Amino acid sequence: MKVGILALQGSVTEHAKILHNLRTQFVLVRSREDFQDLTHLILPGGESTTMEKLLKKFEMWDEILRQIQNDNLKVFGTCAGAILLAKFGAGWSVQRNGFGAQQASFSTVLKSKTFPDLRGVFIRAPRLKPPSKPPSNSPLEKGGETEVLATFENEPVLVRDGNFLGASFHPEIAGETRVHEFFLQKF
Ligand code: GLN
Repeated sequence: MKVGILALQGSVTEHAKILHNLRTQFVLVRSREDFQDLTHLILPGGESTTMEKLLKKFEMWDEILRQIQNDNLKVFGTCAGAILLAKFGAGWSVQRNGFGAQQASFSTVLKSKTFPDLRGVFIRAPRLKPPSKPPSNSPLEKGGETEVLATFENEPVLVRDGNFLGASFHPEIAGETRVHEFFLQKF
């Protein structure tokens, strides 16, 4: 197992702290070379348009897609990271800032059977929706199905589609380790 955190922008330090708490070694991914032999990749929260631009500029976008398709790369995205995952073909689409602007940020306890009393911090968080049609590279085509692991006011906020795990919120900012543990051990 080799875990990487995409470290171009966003809540990188917060994810790193969670992995430290879980005593899991990781690499910070800043270039194409850093992808070597990765099995798990974390896409942090931040600004999805900036991350997309930088990923394309540094020729990392295609490398992520290639590893998702060919090397079974497992990817966990929080907030902006979940938006990027939708673009990489995960079985959900997003409404950016669907949970409100920066001033409307909030922290709440979510409904989840898998993670009782899971705390979610929402900062300009996306709403997660079913995809209008499954993207051509979606694992849905391989028979997978998007599974809802946590909801807020009956809306999905933590979802899994095959090798993809997406959260609208930031477990890393709440200091919550269980979602990362699930990603690292149960995928
Ligand atoms: N609204 C941001 C975006 O669209 C995501 C915010 C976040 O990651 N906290 O990329």
